Amino acid sequence: TTPCLPEPRAVSTNQALFERAQLSIPGGVNSPVRAFRAVGGTPRFIARAQGPYMWDAEGQRYIDYIGSWGPMILGHGHPAVLDAVIRAAHEGFSFGAPTEREVELAEEIIRNVPSIEQVRLVSSGTEAGMTAIRLARGATGRSKIIKFEGCYHGHADALLVKAGSGLATFGHPTSAGVPPEVVQHTLVLEFNNIEQIEETFKAQGGDIACVMIEPIAGNMNFVRASVPFVKRIRELCDQYGALFVFDEVMTGFRVALGSAQSVYARDIPGFQPDISVFGKVIGGGMPLAAFGSSRKIMQNLAPLGGVYQAGTLSGNPVATACGLATLKEITKPGFYEALGARTQALVSGLTEAAKAAGVPFVGDSEGGMFGFFFTNHAGEGLPQNYNVVMATQKERFNRFFHGMLDRGVYLAPALYEAGFVSASHTEADIAATVAAAADVLRIEAA
Ligand code: PLP
Repeated sequence: TTPCLPEPRAVSTNQALFERAQLSIPGGVNSPVRAFRAVGGTPRFIARAQGPYMWDAEGQRYIDYIGSWGPMILGHGHPAVLDAVIRAAHEGFSFGAPTEREVELAEEIIRNVPSIEQVRLVSSGTEAGMTAIRLARGATGRSKIIKFEGCYHGHADALLVKAGSGLATFGHPTSAGVPPEVVQHTLVLEFNNIEQIEETFKAQGGDIACVMIEPIAGNMNFVRASVPFVKRIRELCDQYGALFVFDEVMTGFRVALGSAQSVYARDIPGFQPDISVFGKVIGGGMPLAAFGSSRKIMQNLAPLGGVYQAGTLSGNPVATACGLATLKEITKPGFYEALGARTQALVSGLTEAAKAAGVPFVGDSEGGMFGFFFTNHAGEGLPQNYNVVMATQKERFNRFFHGMLDRGVYLAPALYEAGFVSASHTEADIAATVAAAADVLRIEAA
């Protein structure tokens, strides 16, 4: 078992660290959403985490519903994972040569996701998504790609168009530094709009290499692609010879063992995407991501085919040890049933608390991923696309976020982000979270 460390003493304040950080790091952070710009206030500098909890530099404890933005599905410092990482580190940090663990991790992903026959391991979701697009273009000999408004697929140039989360937070529909020529082949359509994608295929179907989607979009909080929408995209891709790319960086091994594609296969018999992109959970908190497809499509990659991809740290031995140990735990029978039930308990607790306070609210979850919105009217359903998400109550969310943070509950610091529950969150953690929410919402309603 993990040694129980003493709670950290307050050594510096979050504010002092933030001021110091801003001198040496742009905005004081290494990924924009961490700066709390969307919600205001001072970011918490995290000193340590264990199980479902994180402690900041001031020694304040938080129940963590970010989980490093998804990877920490077992909670922090799981003993078996920690042990695997330490053992791997003793054997060597990086070799730049193939290792048995990479093969084991590839086999484990393939075993659980039937659409995949081969995978390539990389170091970030951005890299995996970027290469998946290159592979789709290389395999089809076409240039155009379709993505959807509010979906984020990493920060590769061609994909930085109307992406959600951090970009939504900063109000940039796209990024400076991306020449228009680079995104000229990226078509951005409305999420869940069947008619629009039908028209697009009718007009340009022969030029479309792939359609890329976040099946449950976690970068505009939590918005499911409807079953008819996914089914129709599958048909259109088949009809026009385009590839269907599921970006499961967030949903992969998070919403179900078979990932989001297995959730859609429940309603669309035989459903499979052509290419899948993974990250987050498969690395268990270490820099690791992957993309996979049929053997036929993957043969296009170097060294077999002409689509180039490489990485100094790809398949890193410590990261693969972390990912493998994580997958070993989450493939145990009953894991997702328990995680899904706990996540549902959180969402229904929050929903009840909002109802009791008379605050219009909707929430949803799948497996260990959840989202919620402060809507404009009671009875308003879950948002189906980015524009509807943007029209929900941002100021109310921001007040709720800070109220919860003050009560030791760490939610994502922007309403455009999904939340995550880990297997280490106990019933008592959920109850404490719901009690805090009830308190905050009572004040909000007053
Ligand atoms: N795709 C999705 C759906 C994501 O949520 C993210 C990151 O949040 C990425 C891709 C990019 O992954 P990374 O941050 O590891 O580059």
